[in-house]
Amino acid sequence: MRALRTPGPLARRLLLRVLAFSLCFTLLAGGVQLYLEYRREMHDIDTRLELIRSGYLASFERSLWDLNQVQLNVQLHGLVDFPDIAWASLASPDFNLIQGDIQAPGPLRVEHFPLGYQPPDGEQRALGELVVAIDLGAIYRRLWLGGLSNLLWMGLFLCGLAVALSWLFHSLVTRHLERMAEFAGRMAGGDLQRPLRLDKRIRAEDDEIDTVAHALDDMRQALGEERAELQRQVERRTDSLRRAKDEAEAANQAKTRFLATMSHEIRTPLNGILGMAELLRDAPLGELERKRLHALYKAGEGLLAVLNEVLYFARLEDGASLPEPLDFELGELLDEVLTLLEPRAAGNATQLSLHLDPAVRQRCRGAEQLLRQVLSNLVANAVKFTEGGEVRLEVSLLAEEGEAQRLRFAVVDDGIGIPEAVQARIFERFTQASEEVARRYGGSGLGLAISKRLVEAMGGCIGVQSREGEGSTFWFELELLPASAPASVVAPVPRTDRALRVLLVEDVPLNREVAEGLLKRDGHSVWLAEDAEPALRLCREQVFDLILLDMHLPGMGGVELCQAIRAQADGRNREVPILAFTASVQPALVRRYFDAGMQGVLAKPLRVDDLRRALAELHEPGAEAPADGVLDEQVLATHRELLGEHRVRELFGILRESLAQQLPMLHEALRAEDSTEAASLAHRLAGSCQSMGLRGLGDCLHALEEAALAGEPLQGWAEKIDAQRAAAEPHLQP
Ligand code: ADP
Repeated sequence: MRALRTPGPLARRLLLRVLAFSLCFTLLAGGVQLYLEYRREMHDIDTRLELIRSGYLASFERSLWDLNQVQLNVQLHGLVDFPDIAWASLASPDFNLIQGDIQAPGPLRVEHFPLGYQPPDGEQRALGELVVAIDLGAIYRRLWLGGLSNLLWMGLFLCGLAVALSWLFHSLVTRHLERMAEFAGRMAGGDLQRPLRLDKRIRAEDDEIDTVAHALDDMRQALGEERAELQRQVERRTDSLRRAKDEAEAANQAKTRFLATMSHEIRTPLNGILGMAELLRDAPLGELERKRLHALYKAGEGLLAVLNEVLYFARLEDGASLPEPLDFELGELLDEVLTLLEPRAAGNATQLSLHLDPAVRQRCRGAEQLLRQVLSNLVANAVKFTEGGEVRLEVSLLAEEGEAQRLRFAVVDDGIGIPEAVQARIFERFTQASEEVARRYGGSGLGLAISKRLVEAMGGCIGVQSREGEGSTFWFELELLPASAPASVVAPVPRTDRALRVLLVEDVPLNREVAEGLLKRDGHSVWLAEDAEPALRLCREQVFDLILLDMHLPGMGGVELCQAIRAQADGRNREVPILAFTASVQPALVRRYFDAGMQGVLAKPLRVDDLRRALAELHEPGAEAPADGVLDEQVLATHRELLGEHRVRELFGILRESLAQQLPMLHEALRAEDSTEAASLAHRLAGSCQSMGLRGLGDCLHALEEAALAGEPLQGWAEKIDAQRAAAEPHLQP
């Protein structure tokens, strides 16, 4: 029934077509029928006239011959009674009779019948004329009415038929089509679970609709299977990708570990070798030995440079951060870069020159270290690949944007040049122009890759123009800001004048000798110990001015040894400054050294200046950094010295974020009196705060952890923590 109320467009179209067809058919059939009726009527009239001619004329002639008017009138009347005869008249010399409806509106068909008489013995004589008028108008009206009513009935019948047909069509076809369309829509929307069900009786033999429905449902099943297979495939791929990613990460970590080990295993002894070589320079040596020593030093330096390059690139790959921007003199930096490379250029009979655009600002602020490294790389390459030629370092001003100057640095040489085909990938790592260049000139193929990364890290871009055999121009563009402070005189490294008694505890002989040599050269007395046992013995025997402790000793480690020295019964060295002598300078470890009772950290590889500065700070009055309730300045100063201001700010940033994230959780745990959660959160935050020297907040969190673990009530702690957090705020500002 719903179908009848809202027939679909197809059923509607069918209905309209059937109606139109019915109309045409009805009209045509009506027309044909009308025509046949008309013919029949006309034929009837002819028959009637014929009947009059054959049956009536003789009696009229006789009555006329007899001059019987009454009879004639009766006969005329009889004629008028014939159907459709409008009137009949008789005209003769004796009579003029007329019967019927003379006013009939017509049209009329008028027939004239001559009347005559032939007596048996005489000649045919004309007596008059009979005229009969047939009312065609009445016939037409009858035909019209009959045709109209036929048309009406037929129309009604055909309309009924059309409606019935379209209802049938809808119930047999279109409603199933609609269901199938809806089903196909569901499939397109991804629903492949529900099968297609038509609202129709199941018959023994499938009709066309059943065939289409089966085909559609088969399609649904096929799609469903395909999708399941695809899903399985995606899952398998995702799994293998995840595995590959895990493996890649593991490989990456292994690489980092390997490089870290390399750094420790190779760099430390190499620094030892270089340190020894430096010490030997002061020894009385013959000319030959001096030359050999120089060669040893140079080879070691070269090895260190390659090693540093590899390590540096690994650090860059791991996303090392930009160094703190510094104020610097650009002219000085350029001079230094060229001066350092002057000997190499002279060795290649190559002339170095500098062209500095006078419009370029002298005192700038930026990543001086990176700029120096990129320029050194490019000029060193230019010198390396140019024999008996000229290398020009040109710096020009491209544009001024606000305070910043956009500069173009170009290193122009007339050396061997680079084939065009290689130029596009010369900045990729481990890429060299050719096998022959690699064999002849050596190198790691990393210098340009590092330079590109550094220039990009400074927000600039780098490129090359070159022609094989004619020379190359390596250029880069970047923005430099003006210096933030006026030029100042650099303070010289402080030195202590006192000769100190130093105990050095270190298990690696090379490191021991380097440190000993450097200390002795500055006039200090040095006692050596390989591990904890001789160290403790020496401490029992005498008082030192300073103890340097390696942190990775065999057996008892440096931290425990420090505690043991402080706890010795005679207490001779209870107050003596102890420095951690180590390459492990992560904040959390540094914090542990201080907690164990050390006064500072001396980073490996050992540099003379660092050693001198540390000794001076420990032994000059007022040199020691204060430690107030809020902040442990000593720890912080050490971090700054070892890691640099930039990295320390980064670490504070990380701490600020963890506080912002976890303090609300801690407050929540305190409100809920959840001791376990509070202890765990306090523990985590306390460690981070103490590592960064936030003593007040760190200690308060630590105390809270202990109280929570002891099951004490937790009211009042939230306020204490907030107060310490507020006190630490100035140090956490970015
Ligand atoms: P390395 O010099 O250690 O091999 P680089 O990355 O610094 O690595 O240089 C990559 C290659 O680019 C060099 O091996 C050399 O083929 C080519 N190259 C770099 N600078 C120049 C230059 N100024 N002239 C000619 N070739 C150069």
